[in-house]
Amino acid sequence: MTWSLLIKNGTVVDGSGAPGTAADVALEGDRIAAIGPNLAGESARTIDATGLMVAPGFIDIHSHSDLVYDKCPGAESKVRQGVTTEVVGMCGFSPGPIAPGRTEAVRDWIGGIGNKPPATWQTFGEYLDFLRGLGTSVNVVQFVGHGALRLATVGGENRPPTADEQRQMERLLVEGLDAGAWGYSTGLVYAPSVYASTEELIALAKSMAARGGIYFSHVRGEAGTLEKAYEEAIRIGEQGGVPVQIAHVKASGRENWGKMERALRMISDARARGLEVTGDVYPYPAGSTKMDNLLPPWMHDGGTAKLLERLADPAARERAIADCLIGGERWGSSSGSYGWDEVMIATCSRPELAGKNLAELARLTGREPAHAMMDFVLSERAGVSMVGFSQSEENVAIASADPHTMIGSDSLSLHSGPGPHPGKPHPRSYGTFPRVLGVYCREKRLFSWETAVHKMTGMPARKLRLKDRGLLKSGYAADLALFDPKTVRDEATFPDPHRHPAGIPYVVVNGQVVVDGPRYNAVPAGRVLTR
Ligand SMILES: [Zn+2]
Repeated sequence: MTWSLLIKNGTVVDGSGAPGTAADVALEGDRIAAIGPNLAGESARTIDATGLMVAPGFIDIHSHSDLVYDKCPGAESKVRQGVTTEVVGMCGFSPGPIAPGRTEAVRDWIGGIGNKPPATWQTFGEYLDFLRGLGTSVNVVQFVGHGALRLATVGGENRPPTADEQRQMERLLVEGLDAGAWGYSTGLVYAPSVYASTEELIALAKSMAARGGIYFSHVRGEAGTLEKAYEEAIRIGEQGGVPVQIAHVKASGRENWGKMERALRMISDARARGLEVTGDVYPYPAGSTKMDNLLPPWMHDGGTAKLLERLADPAARERAIADCLIGGERWGSSSGSYGWDEVMIATCSRPELAGKNLAELARLTGREPAHAMMDFVLSERAGVSMVGFSQSEENVAIASADPHTMIGSDSLSLHSGPGPHPGKPHPRSYGTFPRVLGVYCREKRLFSWETAVHKMTGMPARKLRLKDRGLLKSGYAADLALFDPKTVRDEATFPDPHRHPAGIPYVVVNGQVVVDGPRYNAVPAGRVLTR
C-alpha cells in the first residue's frame, strides 16, 4: 500500500464527539484512506504527530471572507487556526448576484467591511466561477445575502417589494441555489436587509425549501429586541419550512445581559417542537461591524449616497442624536448601547486612528462625541469598521458551552507577515478556534476536547448536510487540523490583532499540507463546495 501522507502516533479526535483514540491516519490524494493503530505501508511523506491531536479540519460556520477573497485568496489567518472550510455570504452580505447597473451600489455597500470587490460578475453562478478562478486555500460554502437580493431588485430603499420584485428576489435566490449556494442569510439590522417584513423573508424561505436551502439569521436586534428577534427567526424557519441558524448568539448592551439564558432556551424550546434551530458563537466579549451601523436605519434609506447626504445635514444629525443618545452619555443602536470608550476604530483610510476609541477621537477633534463619530463616518464615506465592546464574558462562556451552538468567527480572513496591514481589526480573524481550544476548553474547562472539536467540525457539517467532511472517516475528504493540546492558544489581541496562533503545526486541505510547521503554502487547495 502506498499512501500520499501518513500521520503517525497522534490522538485521533474524529469530530463526532466520541472519545479520542491513539491511531494513525493515512491519506491517498484528497481522501482519507485508512485510520487505525500502527498503520503499516509505504508513504510519500510521514508526519510524526506524537503529542498532537489529529482532528477534522475546522469549519468556520460564520465567516465574511467572501468580501476579501479577491485580496487574500490564501486565507492565511483562517487556515493557520485549523480552518479548512468557511461558510460565507453571512449577515445579508454577499458579493452576488448583482443586477445590471447596480455594480457601484453593491461595491459601496460591501466596501465598508473591508474591501470593494471587483464585481465583474452579475449572476450568482458567474460570481462562483470568479471564486473558483481565484483558487482559495480553503473550501468555501457560499450563501446568498438577502441584502444583495434586495439591492438587485428594490434597491437601497426603505419600502416593501412590489409583487413583481418579490418574485424576482425568489427567482434570483433559486438561481443562486441551483448554481451552488446553500441557502440565504439576513442582516436584519443592516440596510437594506432591515427593510424587509417577516412575510417577505418567509416567502423567500419557502421558495428554497424544496431545494434544501438553509436560513442563516443575523436577527432583528441583539439588544433590547433580542427575544422578539429570535421569535421572528424561528418563525421564518417554521413557516418557510427550512432549518435555521442563529448567527453570533449574544446579548448586546449591559442592560440586556440578563437575557442570554432566555434566548438559549428559545432555541432549545424550538428544537423540542421539532424545528431544526441551532446557533453559533465567537469567543470574545466584543463584536465588529461597519461604524455607520451605529446610525438609525432611516439614515440609510436609499443607500450610501443618501446616508452621506444626511450626515452632512445638521437637521438630520440632530434627529439621529435625539433618537440614539441616552442620558447624554451612551449611544443606543440596534446592536446595543455603547459608552464612547467602548467603540474602537478598527479600519479606515487613516492608519493613525486605528485602535482609538470614540472618546479619544472626540478629544482629538475637540468635538462632541456624537458629532466626532458622524464627522468621521462622513469623511471616510462610510468606509470604516469598528470593534464594539458590548457583551459580558460570562455570557460568552454560557453561549459557547450550550449544546446547540457551534463555533463561527464572524470575521474576514487576513494575513500577517510583511506588507501593510489594515488597521486593528477584531482579533477573531486570527484567534477564534485556538481561543476556544486554549481558553474555553483547556483553561476554563467548559467542555472536553472532543466536544470542542465537535462544535468546530461534525456539528457544523451536520447542519450543512456536508456528505464527506467534518469527520475523520475512511473515504472522507482529507481536511485535517493537527494541534497540541498543551500549547494551542490564540496570540492575537485587540491592540495587536495581526498575530497567528500557537500550537497548530499542521493543517491539511484536500490532501495538501497548507500549514507545514512554520511554512505557509498558500496553494489553491480549497474548493467551492456545492450541494
Ligand atoms: Zn452578523
